[in-house]
Amino acid sequence: MKLYMCRKCGTVIETASGPSGSSCPQGGNHIWNLLTNDGSTVAKPGLIPFMCKKCGTLVYAKQRPNATQCPSGGGHVWNRV
Ligand SMILES: [Zn+2]
Ligand SMILES: [Zn+2]
Repeated sequence: MKLYMCRKCGTVIETASGPSGSSCPQGGNHIWNLLTNDGSTVAKPGLIPFMCKKCGTLVYAKQRPNATQCPSGGGHVWNRV
């Protein structure tokens, strides 16, 4: 499954298609950035846990997620955990 994060509120969603632009708690609509094409928000066999040391987000993915648009500013810094 694909993982997307809203760069405004930090919400992570898991979706097979594309995310919807529903309303963001930070105002307006969510602005989704793709984190990885093959990941999950929960632990699964074959997926590696990665945590961003800036925003603290934990995701599970086959490889290091994209660094684009950390809600804490700049890009995510993903570390294997
Ligand atoms: Zn949002
Ligand atoms: Zn981050």
